[in-house]
Amino acid sequence: MFNASQIKYLQQKAQLTYCVDPQWMPFEALDAQGQHIGMSADYVALWRQQLPIPLVLVPTRDWVDSLQAIKDRRCDLLPMAMDTGDRRQFLDFTQTYLTIPSVIATTSEKPYIEDLSNLPAQPVGIRKGVGSVESYRQQFPDMQLIEYDSYAEGLLHVQSGLLYGMTGNMGSISYAMQQQQMVNLKIAGRIPGDSVMSVATRNDEPELQQVMQVLLAQVTPAQRQEITNRWLTVRIEQGIDYSLLMKLGGILLLVVLISVAAYRKVQRLNQQLVSANASLARLSRHDPLTGLCNRQHFEQQLAETMDLSRRLQQPMALVMLDLDHFKQLNDQHGHLFGDHCLKQFSLLFQLHFHRSDDVLVRYGGEEFVLIRADIDCVVLAHELEQFRVELAAQTVRLAATESHCTASIGWYCGVPTLAQTPKDLLAVTDRALYQAKHAGRNCIVRAVS
Ligand code: GH3
Ligand code: MG
Ligand code: MG
Repeated sequence: MFNASQIKYLQQKAQLTYCVDPQWMPFEALDAQGQHIGMSADYVALWRQQLPIPLVLVPTRDWVDSLQAIKDRRCDLLPMAMDTGDRRQFLDFTQTYLTIPSVIATTSEKPYIEDLSNLPAQPVGIRKGVGSVESYRQQFPDMQLIEYDSYAEGLLHVQSGLLYGMTGNMGSISYAMQQQQMVNLKIAGRIPGDSVMSVATRNDEPELQQVMQVLLAQVTPAQRQEITNRWLTVRIEQGIDYSLLMKLGGILLLVVLISVAAYRKVQRLNQQLVSANASLARLSRHDPLTGLCNRQHFEQQLAETMDLSRRLQQPMALVMLDLDHFKQLNDQHGHLFGDHCLKQFSLLFQLHFHRSDDVLVRYGGEEFVLIRADIDCVVLAHELEQFRVELAAQTVRLAATESHCTASIGWYCGVPTLAQTPKDLLAVTDRALYQAKHAGRNCIVRAVS
């Protein structure tokens, strides 16, 4: 899943830290106990499943403080942030993974707003620290923008007539309206500058942006949809007031909007289908815990590598690795810790064996296999020994638990004879592994074929 430099980066970090906007529901917030909740919390939970190191929240007072925290490198990433250009001085951004329409909310009797430049000369509210403040000031220099700490505060001033309207993203505005039960307010129009959300990462560690890009790619369209449904759909629909649109002769507009929406939906569904197929194909070849190839893919690869080795008369290798006393480790520290060891093992495994045609497989529970074509047996023997030593020296850490894990290794190196089948090669390699276990574990035995 991660490439060699990303793995190296993750290994160097004991943990990754992140900050959120503590008051930006439904996207993210900190609850009364200081726990991260909202849409980005769901994404963070998915990323945590894939990361070999912990991803830890650093609490902040407000969004401005979160931005300052990542600027000061007190945290490594922001799960949901907008690329405003100027933030690139200290941040990198992944691709966009969420687009939220920007809207303006007014009291119910106000007309539909098509264009912000036609607003009467009355103040309009905006949330403090949002990316669009500067762009609005430039686009609409005459507009009197007032910054608010929260959407609820701004909306209350709309209700009391102090503001003409409150701008913001549709999710937050509808959420605040619903929370405050402001029935006399409505979404009066869509305004420029949709909020396009990416993961922002500290730009002095460029590998992190790549890591987050990989993690985002792992989120399936179905998971994405589920998160959106949980936090956005209902609220947005409840928040919209279409009646005024209709009254203003907007029926035609509505028809156009519906057609565009339907077309977009078909387009979106098609895209989802394509990406669902791609991730299905990936899933069918990869083990979900470690991201390594699974056994099905392995069998095909082994037969192909054997053919190639015979054709070129170049040696190939089949290496089987089995973690030592893994049952005992599970019994002692728990299954979660065991899973963490498997992930950490896989990272180191990928770090050591990353030739483009290397095939790294999770063969079974705590058994792994490497197939390498066109090799020098002496060089590989050396590399395997280096791997074994480094693995044994590595501390596996999860919360307060620390341990070590070692592996026994059996390997075959040579040009298979015409009579040898993949099964035969597996059998000789497995015998070598068995001998390594008997020789006391944490050692390497080469098969005699
Ligand atoms: P040996 O040194 O002889 O290989 O001993 P061992 O305990 O490693 O071998 P054994 O085959 O007796 O046990 C393998 C253990 O691996 C049993 C099982 O609980 C554990 N295991 C298999 N798959 C997983 C997994 O996905 N996660 C965790 N945490 N444990 C697993
Ligand atoms: Mg085993
Ligand atoms: Mg074992």
